[in-house]
Amino acid sequence: MQRAKQQDHDVVIVGGGMVGAALAARLSHAGISVGLVERGSPPTPLSGDYDLRISSLNARSLAFVKASGTTLPEERCCPFRHIDVANQDGSGHSLFSAQDSGMDDFGIFIENRTLQYALWQRLEHLPSVTCYTHCAPLSTISSSTARILELDNGKTLSTRLIVGADGARSTLRELAGISVSSYDYHQRAMIINVETELPQQDISWQYFTPTGPIAMLPLPGQRASLVWYDSHEATHAREALDDEALMSAIESTYPKRLGKLTRIVARASFPVKRQHAKRYIGKRLALIGDAAHVVHPLAGQGLNIGLHDADTLAELIINGSDPGDKVMLHRFECQRRLANQAMIAATDSFHHLFTGAKPLRQLGDLSLHLTERLPFAKRMMMQQANGLNPFKMR
Ligand SMILES: Cc1cc2nc3c(=O)[nH]c(=O)nc-3n(C[C@H](O)[C@H](O)[C@H](O)COP(=O)(O)OP(=O)(O)OC[C@H]3O[C@@H](n4cnc5c(N)ncnc54)[C@H](O)[C@@H]3O)c2cc1C
Repeated sequence: MQRAKQQDHDVVIVGGGMVGAALAARLSHAGISVGLVERGSPPTPLSGDYDLRISSLNARSLAFVKASGTTLPEERCCPFRHIDVANQDGSGHSLFSAQDSGMDDFGIFIENRTLQYALWQRLEHLPSVTCYTHCAPLSTISSSTARILELDNGKTLSTRLIVGADGARSTLRELAGISVSSYDYHQRAMIINVETELPQQDISWQYFTPTGPIAMLPLPGQRASLVWYDSHEATHAREALDDEALMSAIESTYPKRLGKLTRIVARASFPVKRQHAKRYIGKRLALIGDAAHVVHPLAGQGLNIGLHDADTLAELIINGSDPGDKVMLHRFECQRRLANQAMIAATDSFHHLFTGAKPLRQLGDLSLHLTERLPFAKRMMMQQANGLNPFKMR
């Protein structure tokens, strides 16, 4: 890519969360001049107890993060090789194994803050990135050759492309006049970090109940992150329980394979919604990550598809001549909207099949039975979920 002479940066990214920081690291690793605008402080390192927010990173996301020269602390990463999906009453069951899908593992679980911190550490060593913290955009205008971004600290930046990675309530999306379609699942996801008598193995499991799924995501050692989806009322009632009572509630609902709980480390709950921006692009502007789409978290794909947006955009920018080129931005939108729409539809059907009325749940059971009996379908589903092309010959 040719360097911009008259602009402050080739690319300005608003939002230094996991997706924005990953794009900044990848582009500046390739020598592109980047400005990263973050309204908060730079992330701080974690030690001791595990943070509440954790995410799965699939093969494509991991490869993208590593392509920027970022290293993740192995001791806080938990690889997983199996995914067990079942109905709580045992009427439907499917076990996915990485080996059967032609992969070594399905990826890792990592704390959001550990990933964000590792990316920001990498940024510190990259000379072509400048981080502007404790500030946010006030306004933006575009010409044929540049975008100007006015920040609330009095600074003005000019760039050839501005990228909104500022999360579900994106200011940049609003400033660009891009609206969203949204849907409320009328559910909350309660996340509970626990310590257990048994060490976790390399498996993540999810059981569907008529009120919502319950899931166990493994963390290194004798730790796990539990996710309990339920109505707002039931979740608030559970949040009011003391640790002893919450442990009993978990032990009476979660399968015995979880083992005995020894400690509740942390807990919080989040509303479950989906949202999709009507457009991902504008004049010299692109949206990525949660700024562009929010999916039901039950399949653990929200961050992954955000990182895949960043990966696609980075490749187009690195191999192009102008990062704000209209044709290039259209190519980005075409590729990513199709993939993200498919993920939104898949997670939506999972939700309705397993949490809907009884006939739908019976259909859900049947689909698990069929999947279990069709190794080819299982392999394709897992490769798709890992951001790999299931139709590519090995
Ligand atoms: C319960 C739950 C479980 C989940 N589990 C998984 C999982 O296992 N796997 C997975 O792939 N995904 C998962 N997700 C989804 C994942 O957490 C999100 O998709 C991901 O955090 C989005 O990252 P982001 O960088 O796009 O946005 P954010 O994480 O929201 O980051 C946005 C950044 O922009 C900054 N910002 C905001 N506004 C401004 C502004 N005006 N100016 C400057 N900076 C600004 C913020 O401070 C922040 O740093 C889960 C989500 C939930 C709710």
